Amino acid sequence: MDSQATQKKVELPDQSDGVSSMKIDPKRVLPYIFIHGGCLAVIWVGWSWFAVAAAVFLYVVRMFAITAFYHRYFSHRAFKANRLMQFIFAVWGHTSMQGGALWWAANHRHHHNHSDETHDKHSPVQSGFWFAHIGWLFYPENFSTDYQKVKDYAKFPELVFLNRYDYIVPLAYGAMLLGLGALLESYFPGLGTNAWQLFVWGFFISTVVLLHGTLFINSLAHVWGSRRFETEDDSRNNFLLALITLGEGWHNNHHRYQHSAQQGFYWFEVDLSYYALRAMEKLGLIYDLKPVPARIYDEAGQQKKARIGK
Ligand SMILES: [Zn+2]
Ligand SMILES: [Zn+2]
Repeated sequence: MDSQATQKKVELPDQSDGVSSMKIDPKRVLPYIFIHGGCLAVIWVGWSWFAVAAAVFLYVVRMFAITAFYHRYFSHRAFKANRLMQFIFAVWGHTSMQGGALWWAANHRHHHNHSDETHDKHSPVQSGFWFAHIGWLFYPENFSTDYQKVKDYAKFPELVFLNRYDYIVPLAYGAMLLGLGALLESYFPGLGTNAWQLFVWGFFISTVVLLHGTLFINSLAHVWGSRRFETEDDSRNNFLLALITLGEGWHNNHHRYQHSAQQGFYWFEVDLSYYALRAMEKLGLIYDLKPVPARIYDEAGQQKKARIGK
């Protein structure tokens, strides 16, 4: 535990924020039991190279939606896009089954305002690893969207609609997998897949791995890794987490400067989402990617010197 853990910001109590003494709502645990339990159906549907490759592909494209759109765009406004692209970002992100873009962004903005303090909804330092990882999702006070925290996007009715009916896109996603699997079985039987096999691999297995990959940033990225910046929270930089989350593992960088489109601040900090965002910028799909200011690099240099001098 480094010294930062004992130097939290002093803040006034805020009864509306964070986790209170309220109890877990079993109704909210059921969807998580459903998607985890659904993975067991692999015993009956088996596997094929196509289904496994589809699950990996769907993990990567949906992790990109979480990191690039839910996180960097909706939570931090790290780049700009037109309204149609913005809508596509939201629909794409909804296929991850991690709630609406506005719900996700509101909770995440709350995390940055209260990182590792008592009101943080998911701090492993305050509440333990498992609570920070997944337990916080089961508490009633974390179900609704605090639209006050996302006023900038809540003015778009299409985003509010998707957020309110956040099951529509996942249902369509599941139906698409079933339909595609049935078509492939009929027209390309050599692939060895079918409707239910593609559904189990794409809807359950891929989504559960994606969920935990994302949640590791709330849990592991606040306890495991190195700290370039002496931030007031316990955020860490972690290469392995950066790989599995396409760049989110540079979490200490991100907590120091949350507004930039990149989270890997140097060429050796692999940030696949940022490279993809640069490609999208070249294609004219997004614009105004926010850079890391020179003063942040200066600060990194000073802190490195200070550590060597110790
Ligand atoms: Zn964090
Ligand atoms: Zn963030």
